Amino acid sequence: MNQMENVNCSIPCNLCGGTDVEEVGLLDRDSNYLRTVVCRNCGLAWSDPRPNEDEIRNYYSKDYRVEYKGTLTPKLKHVYRAGRVAEQRYKQVADLITPGARVLDVGAGGGEFVFLMRKRGFDSSGIEPNEGYGRFAQEHLKLPITVGFAQQIEPADGKFDLVTMHHVLEHLDDPALVLGKLYESITDGGFIAIEVPNVEGTCFAPIHRFHQAHLYNFNSKTLEAIGEKAGFAVHRSEMSDDGGVIRAIFRKTGVKPEPVTAIPGNYEEIVKIIRRHTPTSHYLTAQPYVRPFSRLRMNLAEKKGTKGCSDAFAVLEKLFGPGTYAG
Ligand SMILES: [Zn+2]
Repeated sequence: MNQMENVNCSIPCNLCGGTDVEEVGLLDRDSNYLRTVVCRNCGLAWSDPRPNEDEIRNYYSKDYRVEYKGTLTPKLKHVYRAGRVAEQRYKQVADLITPGARVLDVGAGGGEFVFLMRKRGFDSSGIEPNEGYGRFAQEHLKLPITVGFAQQIEPADGKFDLVTMHHVLEHLDDPALVLGKLYESITDGGFIAIEVPNVEGTCFAPIHRFHQAHLYNFNSKTLEAIGEKAGFAVHRSEMSDDGGVIRAIFRKTGVKPEPVTAIPGNYEEIVKIIRRHTPTSHYLTAQPYVRPFSRLRMNLAEKKGTKGCSDAFAVLEKLFGPGTYAG
């Protein structure tokens, strides 16, 4: 490390504590200023300096989630879409737990996953920072969802057999701290399932790689290492077919792994992938042309899936089919 490089980093690496970084981006996907750095010691990437609250709020205000705020009813197609995602998430964790297991969904959104898990016989609850989302899940789906931030979870809150975090970790200002608290909240032998965007993904346009709302950017190695830092052992780790997201499942084995202090070669690999992924290379692949067709298919599925449904509850009942709903 030399002094010049240290000057360019205001937040130490959340994974290894290092401050020797390289700049890999200066814009977010809306072409706003967002400086992204990568730790030369381990490969974790983060926004430095961090965007301020107004900038993050501005990002969220463009998101469809604002429709959930206040007394507005969310569009049924959004509930249907989230329900489909919930089914995929269920398949990814179904082998980890047995009926009656206590499941906590951190960042529960409109509650679709909690709803499905309860329907499948699990003691499922959630925590969601967006007030509109959380209230919607409480009032319209009658779910035990607490409105609050992951950072507010207290280890003494209870013991869970499974904690799920779907696109949450990258939004946290101290992911290692939150994972450490969740470690204490999980029973011995229990699991945590985490999905995050892959910083090495090339299935989207290069400008889409960095978001104001994503404070950290992981690849498989840094995601696995941050779970280990919190005390978990990697149970399994995989990537989506398009390489756009990483899904890692960690287990609390009772034996804490040695915390990672460096990941040799990882930073070089990430920087190489990011620099090679240019607009020209992107539009020469099939990816940009496949996407509009899958969107069209989804639109048709949404129309069919919400047909005849008067509210969100009906949409999810229709989608998930008969089952025991202990709401
Ligand atoms: Zn690092």
